Amino acid sequence: MKKVRCAEIVGGGFAGLASACALAQRGWNVRLHERDSELRTTGAGIYVYENGLRVLEALGAYQDSVQDAPLVVAREVRDDANKLISVHQWKGASRVYSIVRQQIINALAKVAKNAGVQIVTNSEPVAATPQGEVQFSDGRRMKADLVVCADGVNSRLRDSLGLLVRRKFLHDGAIRYLIDKAPGETTSKAEATTVEYWSGSRRILYTPCSPTQIYIALTMLHRDRIAATVPIDRGAWKAWFPHLTTVIDRLGFDGRYDRFELIRLNPWSLGRAAVVGDAAHALPPNIGQGGGSAMMNALSMAVYLDHFDDVTSALVEWERKERPLTEHTQRMSVLMGMPTTWPSPLRNIFYKFATRSKWMVKQRTKIVTHRPTGTAA
Ligand SMILES: Cc1cc2nc3c(=O)[nH]c(=O)nc-3n(C[C@H](O)[C@H](O)[C@H](O)COP(=O)(O)OP(=O)(O)OC[C@H]3O[C@@H](n4cnc5c(N)ncnc54)[C@H](O)[C@@H]3O)c2cc1C
Repeated sequence: MKKVRCAEIVGGGFAGLASACALAQRGWNVRLHERDSELRTTGAGIYVYENGLRVLEALGAYQDSVQDAPLVVAREVRDDANKLISVHQWKGASRVYSIVRQQIINALAKVAKNAGVQIVTNSEPVAATPQGEVQFSDGRRMKADLVVCADGVNSRLRDSLGLLVRRKFLHDGAIRYLIDKAPGETTSKAEATTVEYWSGSRRILYTPCSPTQIYIALTMLHRDRIAATVPIDRGAWKAWFPHLTTVIDRLGFDGRYDRFELIRLNPWSLGRAAVVGDAAHALPPNIGQGGGSAMMNALSMAVYLDHFDDVTSALVEWERKERPLTEHTQRMSVLMGMPTTWPSPLRNIFYKFATRSKWMVKQRTKIVTHRPTGTAA
């Protein structure tokens, strides 16, 4: 009989929870450490595209994740004068849902617990070793066959392994909110059109994400201190977006600012320690694939581990097969964010081209149309 293998997972976000579900469902004995007192996510809403939805299906967390979330049918881009400059229709086999983040975290946590994962909150390992140990600041150590470092973009575990080769802070960032819908905004529960409104280098992304809530993301250049300050200067935002005053009036004091980043490691694992999610490959959110990539790589890691008795060989093979698509996605995401720093007329031309050019759409949606490892054919 095969020995039951043990995993210590650090981080209770999309990457850690998806890893926990996928490993436990393959017979692993899994413990997940979350430093917070509960599993809670920041960032309001999230787009989950076909690839991420397939992973949620494979893990058994799909129904609860998309419950009451609208299917996104179109994305409009509007210029400084609120004039429509492009529309991307999401049709055919490719689904996109806009979802309240916490709903996905809850769905994954439910699957993980049902699969026997032990979730330990208020637990904060500070380092990992290639021998499969997690270490705490008080000197405690826990040893396993596998350590999964899924502790996000500021990962201490990744840094303790010395795997980081590039951390690039990008030119822009975002402040995110969830707001309640006003009576006129409750028209369709099942479908949503999302709108990206531009004003100079600033943007308001309007995304219905539940029957009662709208996810709002304000994006701006990092150096634009008036726009990047929380709580926001409502007067300034209304002057930049006079057609959105009723939305801006509803933005509270609770938004949070995050600067966009790009992370590159070499390699993704060392011995029995693997790095997954933003800790390994954070990318700017311009094509909404950070969470999708995190969940895909978490599931595929468990699949490769299932095919090999030797953990180290499985992790090497996992990276060899899965990393090229993640890197392509990082490149596309950076490319799609470049027009933020351009003059408006040039940016409008770029977005028209990005929507109309078959080649660009193919490159941009390569990860969306990819069938993730471990999902049904
Ligand atoms: C503005 C913005 C918009 C985005 N929009 C989208 C989108 O639409 N679609 C999409 O797919 N992606 C999107 N992303 C990216 C997405 O949010 C991330 O890729 C995703 O959250 C990464 O998940 P993760 O589990 O790797 O990290 P995180 O979500 O950061 O989770 C890490 C977890 O680890 C915990 N932790 C950290 N250190 C420790 C420790 N030492 N011990 C224990 N626990 C620890 C943290 O508390 C946290 O719970 C967006 C990102 C931004 C900034």
